[in-house]
Amino acid sequence: MYRSHNCGELRAAHINTEVTLAGWVQKSRDKGFIVWVDLRDRYGITQLVFDEERTSKALIEQAQDLGREFVIQVKGTVIERASKNPNMPTGDIELLVSELNILNEAKIPPFTIEDKTDGGEDIRMKYRYLDIRRNPVKNSLIFRHKVTQEVRNYLSNAGFIEVETPYLIKSTPEGARDFVVPSRMNEGQFYALPQSPQTFKQLLMVGGMDKYFQIVKCFRDEDLRADRQPEFTQIDCEMAFIDQEDILNAFEGLTRHLLKEVNGVDVEKFPRMLYDDAMRLYGNDKPDIRFGMEFGELNAVAQHKDFGVFNSAELVVGIAVPGGNSFTRKEIDKLISWVKRPQVGALGMVYARCNDDGSYKSSVDKFYDQEDLAKWAEATNAKPGDLICLLSGDKNKVRTQLSALRMELAEQLGLRKPDEFAPLWVMDFPLLEWDEETERYHAMHHPFTSPKPGQLELLKTDPGAVKANAYDLVLNGNEIGGGSIRIHDKETQSLMFDYLGFTPEEAKAQFGFLMDAFQYGAPPHGGLAFGLDRLVAILGGQETIRDFIAFPKNNSGRDVMIDAPAPIDDAQLTELSLKLNLKS
Ligand code: ASP
Repeated sequence: MYRSHNCGELRAAHINTEVTLAGWVQKSRDKGFIVWVDLRDRYGITQLVFDEERTSKALIEQAQDLGREFVIQVKGTVIERASKNPNMPTGDIELLVSELNILNEAKIPPFTIEDKTDGGEDIRMKYRYLDIRRNPVKNSLIFRHKVTQEVRNYLSNAGFIEVETPYLIKSTPEGARDFVVPSRMNEGQFYALPQSPQTFKQLLMVGGMDKYFQIVKCFRDEDLRADRQPEFTQIDCEMAFIDQEDILNAFEGLTRHLLKEVNGVDVEKFPRMLYDDAMRLYGNDKPDIRFGMEFGELNAVAQHKDFGVFNSAELVVGIAVPGGNSFTRKEIDKLISWVKRPQVGALGMVYARCNDDGSYKSSVDKFYDQEDLAKWAEATNAKPGDLICLLSGDKNKVRTQLSALRMELAEQLGLRKPDEFAPLWVMDFPLLEWDEETERYHAMHHPFTSPKPGQLELLKTDPGAVKANAYDLVLNGNEIGGGSIRIHDKETQSLMFDYLGFTPEEAKAQFGFLMDAFQYGAPPHGGLAFGLDRLVAILGGQETIRDFIAFPKNNSGRDVMIDAPAPIDDAQLTELSLKLNLKS
């Protein structure tokens, strides 16, 4: 028996018991005749005491040689601490050691294994196994476990069956590049790793599984923006014989369950917002509704004067910053530079101060009088003491820019509180999205998403206006899930492939199996997938997902610990019938 108790377990009630502990040396304090060692394992820290008088000189010498992170086993008696530590769960006691066993020595770790470490991100990733010993990472992984357990409990109780789907498949159309795997046995042929189990879960519905879920790895070869991983985890779900309402209820239920069980938070019925309204009011399809600052559109009250910048704009739109009239001129100038950064891309910002006496002072007083400014305040819902910020330009661009400003200001004003949860459904997304690069329409969600009833015809005349039976679940300004009601008949699916620019041959080659399946009695079905990594991070009150993933990759998609990706040797290439043609 390596241990009778763990390092987080012993309390005053254990005083005078003989116990055996095992763990890592966190730190030691050597007074010459007495040595204290903090012994750590997953469960906590217990203070060990080696005392020349009460035990032996030999033992204390052994203790003096212990280095940080040595793995040891100790036997001893639990005693009451002379000076108790109320900040430690085990702070009432210490272990008077009678026997010390070094199970393994350790090199000096490259960074301190403390909550606040001196190790930078790179070094911590290289020695991730040491990083995992630290509380912030360890607790994040335990937290993730709790969330996944609750997901399994809830869905399983609701009659969902967890089914695994294969990883070696062929292309899935989630809009990213596939990771591919060469097949040795099928020369010149490749598997693709799933961007999601989309087609498989639909086939499971054809197979009669009715309610499916899976906590599953997905792989997308995208350029990695700040907080993305090339492999990530989804809670993937699908249901048959349902309509949109059933899906929204089922997964709202799951989300509410998680908020309750994991965070102890009760949330009312989730608000639902149309995609068009989200774009109009927040400039964003994943609005953070923990705070107001909704957009006001000002064309009617800002384009009637001689101000060319506004008059030539497709949209003049603004927000009221609560209490923003207290910003100094310098602070406002900083905001203006902020929106003009290339990442945001606004040409400038007009502002109006709302004074406490009900008067206004704007940066365009030359053009607009108090009456105009009062209308701006009305349109943006600005109160005395606020600051109105206006941007103008191309509708889509300016909404995105103002959304960025809104989020930045909310961050600065501390309005994005991590312990507040504001979920909502965003619904009725456009079916198609124009892609400037390829000059073609792409499926906004994926090609299996059904258009709203009666809108199929509109595809021919005004494809951009067609709305889909598609919905996203948004939490605190993040998309945490998304899905749709699917097309379930072959004709509509062929039509959709056709509109998306697939030739019948291409559609058959890529998705023939699904179209075939649709001929054998496909039930109406739909589903969604949650991004588990992000969901866990948000529930955990954080915005970055990395600490919630045991072995994450860096921004260039590398695992710096195992040093992957890596070249393979010539023999392996030959075996796979591959030849390299490197660009550099
Ligand atoms: N497969 C979709 C995705 O990964 C989710 C869904 O439509 O169920 O975004």
